[in-house]
Amino acid sequence: MLPEARVYAYSAVLMGSPILLKLFEDNQTLAAQVFRLIRQQENLFTVNRAASEVMAINHAAGQHPVVVSQPVFDLIACAHAVSLLPDSLFNLAIGPLVKCWKIGFQGHSVPSPAELQARKALIDPHEVILDADARSVMLARPGMEIDLGAIAKGYIADLVQAFLRQQQVSHALINLGGNVQTVGAPPDEQGWAIGLKKPFGAADELIGVIGVNNCSVVTSGIYERYFELNGICYHHILDPRTGYPLDNELLSVTVISDRSLDGDIYTTLLYGLGVEQGIACLADKPGIEALFVTRDRRVICSSQRHFSFQLLDDDYRLVH
Ligand code: ADP
Ligand code: MG
Ligand code: MG
Repeated sequence: MLPEARVYAYSAVLMGSPILLKLFEDNQTLAAQVFRLIRQQENLFTVNRAASEVMAINHAAGQHPVVVSQPVFDLIACAHAVSLLPDSLFNLAIGPLVKCWKIGFQGHSVPSPAELQARKALIDPHEVILDADARSVMLARPGMEIDLGAIAKGYIADLVQAFLRQQQVSHALINLGGNVQTVGAPPDEQGWAIGLKKPFGAADELIGVIGVNNCSVVTSGIYERYFELNGICYHHILDPRTGYPLDNELLSVTVISDRSLDGDIYTTLLYGLGVEQGIACLADKPGIEALFVTRDRRVICSSQRHFSFQLLDDDYRLVH
C-alpha cells in the first residue's frame, strides 16, 4: 500500500480573511509566491485602504475618468455587465451603502431612512461609465463608489489556481474565506471534502460536506459578517432596492463552478432570486450548480453533476 499523501497547510491573513493554502509537498517558496500574488491583487482592488486603482476611480467620482490597468478594467466591466442584468441583486456601485452600514467593521450602525435614501441615489450602475478604448472608468456623481468586495476574491482565487497549474502543481486547494478553489483532487483520492458551515454555529460546526475536484466552491452566507441590534440580524449582503440587508428565505448560497469568479457572481445573483427562481435560472447553465440553505432548515441542490453532498446535521433536511 502506498503511504498516505502528506498535506502541508500554509496560512496568512489577507483581504481581511484567514487564507489557507494546501499543498502536498513542503514548498514554502511556492506558498510565499501565492501569498505575494494575492497581496498584489488586493492592492489593486481594495476599497478598505486609501490607495488602490479602484480607490483612484472613487476619489475622482463626479470629476473625471481614471485610466486603470487592463485586469482592473476587465473585472469592473464584468461586474458592470452583471449589475445591468434584469432583476440583478448584484451592484458594483453599492459602495456608498456598504460604507454607511459598515457591517463587519468598527462603527457599524443602522442608518436612518433619510441617510439610506440619500445613499441609494448614488448607486445606479448606469452611472458607471466605461471606455474600453481609453481603459478608463468614470463615476458620474460625486460620492459614488465602486465596491468589488463580492467578486474580487473569486477573481483572485482563479489567478492562484492558474498560477499553481503553471507551476506544474497537480493537487492543491486555496481557501480565501468563502471562496475555495482547487487544483485536481488530493493524491489518490476522488475529491476534496469541503465543509459547509452551520449558519450561526461554532467555527467547526458543519451542516454537511461537499465533495468536488478541480472545481471552485463559493459560499456566501448571511452569517459570515453581521451585527445584531434589538433582535434583528443585519448582514453584509445589501439589497440595492431597499438599502437594507437582503431579507428572504435564504441563509446561504453555495455555487460549484469551474471559475470562482462565476461562483461569486452567481452566489450574489441567486441570493437575490431565491430558491425557486434561482434553480430555474440555472436550468440552462450546466457549468454552474448551487446548493441553497434556507431559514426553515432545508438544503436544496440545483443539479449535482460536479459535486456530491453529504448531510451531517439532523436539524437540516435534504430536499431534492
Ligand atoms: P465575503 O466578503 O464574506 O466573501 P460576499 O462574497 O458575500 O462576502 O460579498 C459581500 C460583499 O460584497 C460585501 O461585504 C460588500 O462589499 C459587497 N456587497 C454587498 N452587497 C452587494 C450587492 N448587492 N452587490 C454587490 N456587492 C455587494
Ligand atoms: Mg461573493
Ligand atoms: Mg465572497
